[in-house]
Amino acid sequence: MTTIRTRFAPSPTGMLHIGGARTALFSWLYARHHGGEFFLRIEDTDRERSTDEATQVILDGLRWLGLDWDATVVYQSKRQASHVQAVEKLLREGKAYRCYCSRETLDVMREKQRIAGVKPMYDARCRELHKHEDDASPFVVRFCSPSDGETIVDDAVLGLVAFPNQELDDLIIMRSDGSPTYNLAVVVDDAAMGITHVIRGSDHLNNTPRQIQLYQALGLSVPTFAHIPLIHGADGAKMSKRHGAVAITEYREAGCLSSAVVNYLARLGWSHGDDEFFSMGQLIDYFDLSHVGASPSRFDQKKLDWLNAQHLRHAPIATLSPLLQQALELPHANIQPPLSDVIASLQARCKNLHDLTKGAHFFYFPPKDYDAKALKKNITDETWPLLQLFISEAEAMPTWDATALHQLIAGICERHALSMGKLAQPIRIFLAGVPVSPPIDITLALLGKEVSLQRLKRAIHVLHEASL
Ligand code: GLU
Repeated sequence: MTTIRTRFAPSPTGMLHIGGARTALFSWLYARHHGGEFFLRIEDTDRERSTDEATQVILDGLRWLGLDWDATVVYQSKRQASHVQAVEKLLREGKAYRCYCSRETLDVMREKQRIAGVKPMYDARCRELHKHEDDASPFVVRFCSPSDGETIVDDAVLGLVAFPNQELDDLIIMRSDGSPTYNLAVVVDDAAMGITHVIRGSDHLNNTPRQIQLYQALGLSVPTFAHIPLIHGADGAKMSKRHGAVAITEYREAGCLSSAVVNYLARLGWSHGDDEFFSMGQLIDYFDLSHVGASPSRFDQKKLDWLNAQHLRHAPIATLSPLLQQALELPHANIQPPLSDVIASLQARCKNLHDLTKGAHFFYFPPKDYDAKALKKNITDETWPLLQLFISEAEAMPTWDATALHQLIAGICERHALSMGKLAQPIRIFLAGVPVSPPIDITLALLGKEVSLQRLKRAIHVLHEASL
């Protein structure tokens, strides 16, 4: 059985956007599902537009998403010798030819075609021109495309797509500076890397008949092609910046978990019954090309937000701990209260990592000030004696745990015929600075006796005694 080999072949001319990330994901999932191999090839032949930063952004984005690649990254620019060899082979075999047409000649040709109302195409006039090899005039190399019949793409997503050959003119495969063009390089490289399945955006569909012809002319076996329909914005128009964050790193900055983004990307075009939530393991188990839809998918920020909250809720503490530690800039060891306990107290109520960081902040840093609106709403004259009572009874507590703390607060409130909020809410504000935190007994237990009592006394000092 042949090993499935897929690849992601981005051009490093910009960021890794959502469409590219999804192409990478589908290729990766297909390989992983079949126990195959997934390669990364950076198509950096356009030296003017390719940058090292863009390459770095792509590598970082893929790493963040957890899309690891097998073997080392292939840089297309380093493969030029193989591209040239392929062009020479085609020339030798009469399947390609040197074209000496100047830009002016081509412009005139196109203008005539335009006036005649026919599709502008190169008319192959240099095919029969047998110039001597050492002729010094500049030339490009063109591929002799068949002029009749049709080239059929048997696409794993789109089905059979036929291209009449007469609509495909003789493609330039090598520029006058000796550099290969995209269609030639991609075929030579995919063949050299043993790629069995080319999975990419449907914006490349029109290149595919050209590439199939090149495979055939070079005597190489044609891989399976799978073209994934494009992603549209929520309004149905082609995805663009105006539809929100498009660079994959922007989702990280917005507090998304990579598992949620991966889940979301997978659902952009692929389905598994009515399921919405998938772990990476489930995606690997279930992914197939037959459930990739043939029509464009719509980007939906609300769904991504929902999935992110779901993933946050289900994320292992071990995944969240380092993220929180980093976000709060905490030391690596002896963190008190333990991150795992703080995360467990907050996880279910957070929508994204920013919420988690915000909610966890006061556990590690005393509040600088107190939310004025919350003070106004929750603090009255009766707060202070109640709080003093709580402090003195709490000081005497032999064990500082959530159950005992709950009993203490409930007991005081009961004795004074007050609802628990009358004491719990002021305590919360004085501990956290804001009126939101995990349940008050858990919050107190996590902060510990010393810190809790210190913060309460400080609040009395700052807010009450100072104003007496
Ligand atoms: N380098 C091409 C791009 O970034 C992709 C080539 C391919 O997947 O065949 O659009």
